[in-house]
This record gives sequence, C-alpha cells and structure tokens, in this order.
Amino acid sequence: MSLNFIEEIVEEDNRTGKWEGRVHTRFPPEPNGYLHIGHAKSICLNAGLARKYNGTFNVRFDDTNPAKEEQEYVDSILRDVAWLAGDVAKDRVFFASDYFGKMYEYAETLVKAGKAYVCDLTPEQMREYRGTMKEPGKESPGRKRTPDENLELLRRMKAGEFEEGTYTVRAKIDMASGNFNLRDPVMYRIVKAHHHRTGDTWAIYPSYDWAHGLEDSLEKITHSICTLEFENHRPLYDWFLNELGLYHPQQIEFARLNLTYTVLSKRKLLELVSGRHVRGWDDPRMPTISALRRRGYPAAAVRAFCDEIGVTRVDSVIDVGRLENAVRGDLNRTAERRMAVLKPLKVVIENWPDGTTEALDAVNNPEDEAAGKRKVPFGKVLYIERDDFMENPPKKFFRLSPGREVRLRYAYFVTCKEVKKDAAGNVTEVVCTYDPATKGGDSPDGRKVKATLHWVAAETAATAEVRLVDRLFNVESPEGDDYLKNLNPKSLELVSDAKLEPSLATADVGRVFQFERLGYFNVDLDSKPGKLVFNRTVTLKDAWAKEQAKGEP
Ligand code: ATP
Ligand code: MG
Repeated sequence: MSLNFIEEIVEEDNRTGKWEGRVHTRFPPEPNGYLHIGHAKSICLNAGLARKYNGTFNVRFDDTNPAKEEQEYVDSILRDVAWLAGDVAKDRVFFASDYFGKMYEYAETLVKAGKAYVCDLTPEQMREYRGTMKEPGKESPGRKRTPDENLELLRRMKAGEFEEGTYTVRAKIDMASGNFNLRDPVMYRIVKAHHHRTGDTWAIYPSYDWAHGLEDSLEKITHSICTLEFENHRPLYDWFLNELGLYHPQQIEFARLNLTYTVLSKRKLLELVSGRHVRGWDDPRMPTISALRRRGYPAAAVRAFCDEIGVTRVDSVIDVGRLENAVRGDLNRTAERRMAVLKPLKVVIENWPDGTTEALDAVNNPEDEAAGKRKVPFGKVLYIERDDFMENPPKKFFRLSPGREVRLRYAYFVTCKEVKKDAAGNVTEVVCTYDPATKGGDSPDGRKVKATLHWVAAETAATAEVRLVDRLFNVESPEGDDYLKNLNPKSLELVSDAKLEPSLATADVGRVFQFERLGYFNVDLDSKPGKLVFNRTVTLKDAWAKEQAKGEP
C-alpha cells in the first residue's frame, strides 16, 4: 500500500535519523465533550503511526479550561480511545494540568527575560488594540513595564490577588505581525474556577496556545499532528520553544474529517444533548464514538473507514455512506444471520398438524462456514412481515398474495389460500398450506417461486423493541447556525413488538446480527431480562443514495 504524506515524513525522518529513530505521537483532546468520528480519525492516525513504526503513543488531556471540563469526559475519552486503538497504558496517559507548575516557571523565565509582560487591557480594549489585516495593532501599555514590575504582578496574579478580567500575561512578540497569533498572544488569564484535577490551587490558567507546544515538548513528542487550522499557530509554538531553548517537535497539519448529514462541532453536539434533541451522548444517532459503539459499529470498521479515506491537506467532505459501507462490509463477514419480523402479520398453516413444531436447520453466516448452523422452530402459526403480503398485488409484487406460492426461508413452500379481516377491512390473518416435499426450502420437482420470505414461529417467538435508527439530519450539509432545523424527524422509529426467533432472546448486549432481509441490528444497552431492545446498526443497502439519485434531474 502506498504511504500517506505523514508516513512519508516519518520514513524520511527515520532515514535521516532526525529523531534517532524515535516515533512518538499523541492524541490531545480537551475533556469538554465526548469524542466523535473526527477524533476517531486523529486517534487512528496517531496510534496507527506509533504502532506501525514501533513508536510510542500518548493520550494527553488538554485540561487547561476549568470551566468546561469534567471527569465524565475524561472517562469517556479513555474508553473510546481504548475501544479504537487498544488499551492505553496508565503511564501513557497525561494531563496538561500536571505541567501547570512547569509552565508557570517558564512564564517567569520569559517575564524575567523581558519576553512576556502583564497586560491590564480589558478584553474589549484588547480587541481594539489588536489591529486589522491592513492595520498593525497598538502596543499595550503593559509592554513598557520593567521585568521586575511584571514579575511582581505575575506573582500576585498567581496568588489570586486580582479579580477575573483585570490582568493577563502576554508574550511580547510583534503587534505588527501579519500573523495575528504573533500579536502579543495571551499566555495566562485569571480564572477563579474549580479545576477537576488541581482543585483551587490555581487562580491563573494557561491559554491553549501557550500550553499546547509546551506539552508536546515536555513529552518529547516527535511528530505533533494537528488539523489545518493550527498551521498559522505553528510560528507561535516555535517562538515559545526557541525563546525558552526547549525541545522542539515537528508539527504536521492535516485536513480534518467532515461528513455529510453530520455535525461534528463539539458545541453543537453538546447542544443536541443538553437540549434533549437526542437521548444522550451515546444516543445511536449521534456521531460520537460512544454512540457508534452502542449502535453496533465494529471498531475494526471505523478503523477501516479512517484508513480508506486517507490523510490529506485538502479540506473535503466525506460521504457518510462510506462509513456505513465500511460497517456493512465488516458485518457481512462477521455478523450471524437471524430471522426477525418487525411488523408481524399472522400466518396459519392449515395443513400443519396441530400442536407440533419442527426444528429446522438455518445457516448462521453464509460468508463464514465456521459459524455453523442453528435450529429454528417452525409451527402451525407463524409471523411474516406485513409488507410481504398484499391482497391485491400490483404487477411487480412477487411476494405472498392470494393463490401465490412463496418460499419460507429454511422451511417450506407455502401457498396462500385465504385472507381474514377485521370489521374495518384490515388483514388480520393469512391462511396458507405448506408442501411437505419442500422441506428446507428446496423444490423437489424444479418448481420455481419468485420470493423467499423470512418468518418467525409464533409460539416460541421472543418479543422486542426495535429502534430503527436513521441519520440524525436530513440534509447533506446540516452545519450552520440553524442546524437544528435540519434534524431528521424520522431519525428514530420505534417498533414496540417485533417478533424474533427464540435464539435471540438470550443474546448478549452489544452483539450484532443480520436480521435477514432487514439489516444489521444489535442488542442495545437498555436490554434487560424480560425486555429485549435492538438498534438498527445499519440497513442492508444505502437507501439514502437512492433518495439522492431520485432528487437529481
Ligand atoms: P474544540 O476545539 O471545539 O474543543 P476539537 O474537536 O478540536 O473541538 P479537541 O479535543 O481539541 O477538540 O480535539 C482533539 C484532537 O482531535 C485534536 O488534535 C484535533 O486536531 C483532532 N480533531 C478534532 N476534530 C477533528 C476532525 N473533525 N478530524 C480530524 N481530527 C480532529
Ligand atoms: Mg480543539
């Protein structure tokens, strides 16, 4: 397989001995939300490089903003990374907050060297002083203070003597720089909030730009991989590390993952959860990793998807259908087949002996002989899918209708003899006969039928709630401020009394099956003894592709 551009860089570095053969990557999430499929791409990339080149992979929590961060997010992130990339050893999990002391010392170093200063501009003034693309910024009066004066103020900021918003610490770089990130960026703000790990120890918190490069440096990261929007922050990270004479990773930017029919902004995902537009972070309709897992997406399929879309430096939007296809491809090979009827219609086999059942052989997975066979009970009363019967069928309907013979999968040929209805004219029961010579669904005399239906025997059927999960948004590009109006009202259809073959009654939570002719379904977390719940993981075919094609002239 050909190398992606980052692998090319790594291999070139290994050839020239730039890092003495070391490859050390990291995934640096901010614990202010659950991870999503975009983060999965970053995890697969970073952990994948470390694995491929015998390197080291860190998970580092960028926990520099006490207001938005929570332990719940830390725990969920570690679960998600482990699921995708394997367990992360305890000594490879880091927290930016563990470096707060070091970072502060470095800040004093810069202040003493006259390379950083305490600024007393209000946030509004700071914006005014920043300048524009055409105009250079104005220098903060704090710039004129002596290093000693700045140092004293910095120490008092740290000691908690000042209110929020009164002072900041800024790097003294260049208010006329064409790169706004170099116009005296803020290094510290006064924040009087409780931090989930350091408690009330700190009254000042580092900015992302000040902290991030130092974290990579302290961990001796070799290839610091981030998304394109950080390209013009790189000169700032370089400036800090150069001024402090610190170890210097190589930053490499790549294009972030965007998906059709999906929002990936953490702020919006949080809004979907807190506004109860979904049932939680792991609602199977969400693009979070925990939702994909809950919904039955195999980790291997998510990794295969990330591999397949590759790594580039060009922003693009990937068709979410490709993710779904990766899931189908994986599950087609691995998921056992079962029969389930979502919208049951009762069928009575007139000539079947009363009170008897028969156990028939069914293949578990035609793609995997080793998966073997199972027994499925057949009896006098069955359920078939309501959609598989029509009293007055149009020309191209080949499934069951009066007088028509069809195959019941793994069982027998049956012929419809009679239709029973309620007072309102709804079909309540279909009466059929079966041909005992067609056992197993084979025709002894070459007789052909045009349809094979799935079915479930009524007496032994398990009942389940089935959640027909679909795309959360019904337009290709739902992002934008009014994204909530693009929510798909049909993203979750509940089926309350699906009938399942009995072997499904005891299936473990999380396990995925193919329900024949219907799609892939997994046992949801909400399942408990006596109450089975399944999610539709993915349909058998991409129904949206058809919809889209229809919409085109
Ligand atoms: P925010 O900046 O709003 O908190 P974020 O998605 O950037 O959101 P981080 O926790 O900073 O959140 O992300 C951690 C890592 O995941 C970063 O290295 C970032 O580059 C990467 N990442 C985030 N979103 C994507 C994406 N859509 N595609 C690829 N990588 C991503
Ligand atoms: Mg970020």
